[in-house]
Amino acid sequence: MKLKELLKNIFYPQDLTCSVCKRESFSGDYICDKCKRAMPLNNKSICGHCGRATPYAVEYCDYCKDKQTYVDLARSVYEYEHPLNLLVKKLKYGGEKYLAEVFAREMQSIYFKYVGHADCIVFIPMTEKRKRERGYNQSEELAKELSKLIEVPVISDVLVKTKETESQVGLERRERLKNVRGSVSVRSKALVNGKRVLIIDDVMTTGATLEVIAEKLKDAGASEVLAITVASVTSKKWGMERLKKEADNETIFDKALKND
Ligand SMILES: [Zn+2]
Ligand SMILES: [Zn+2]
Repeated sequence: MKLKELLKNIFYPQDLTCSVCKRESFSGDYICDKCKRAMPLNNKSICGHCGRATPYAVEYCDYCKDKQTYVDLARSVYEYEHPLNLLVKKLKYGGEKYLAEVFAREMQSIYFKYVGHADCIVFIPMTEKRKRERGYNQSEELAKELSKLIEVPVISDVLVKTKETESQVGLERRERLKNVRGSVSVRSKALVNGKRVLIIDDVMTTGATLEVIAEKLKDAGASEVLAITVASVTSKKWGMERLKKEADNETIFDKALKND
């Protein structure tokens, strides 16, 4: 252990308070046992394709049925519910970068359970400006932490975010996809050509971003594109019937995105 880390552990012991409830955590972990039990693990019935929680196991849920898709398989560790949503926000906007390590440990099990083998990892890119504002790209941090655990390299310069995505609010799915498409590009096709690529991100909401990235990777020659996210917005929260309807879909997701 480096001296700096040692001193940090003495003066700021990590096991002092729980990241969720702020009570003392005796487990020595970032999250106390009580909060850990309350975490909405997505480990019951899921859609075989997008991995969202479903009332019973299905091959394709109503949300991804009949949709053209470039993501071959997606899985998420949690449902995007309380208290997990708070932790994701802390990772994204609260500067609590260490949470990437916590989540990566859970993503590791999902990787071995459902993916098994990937040639490389990519993450959702952020513009340099945004990265400076936030201090880091949470998707990149998750990718790096997972990479250490599963020993699959992160290819960081394959995807580039060329401009800020315009506000998605009030846009239809097609427009959203177009929006994202125009803001991300693949820099080096050779890096992913013929590869089984794993995309890492924090939350799958509509899945539009993952789809666009996957489409670009496939265009670049990727043989398969898989995705693991910390959480996914599920039917339980938004209602499967509503998820089916594109119009409603946009409205509820807009709300979700705005609240994020
Ligand atoms: Zn707690
Ligand atoms: Zn599905």
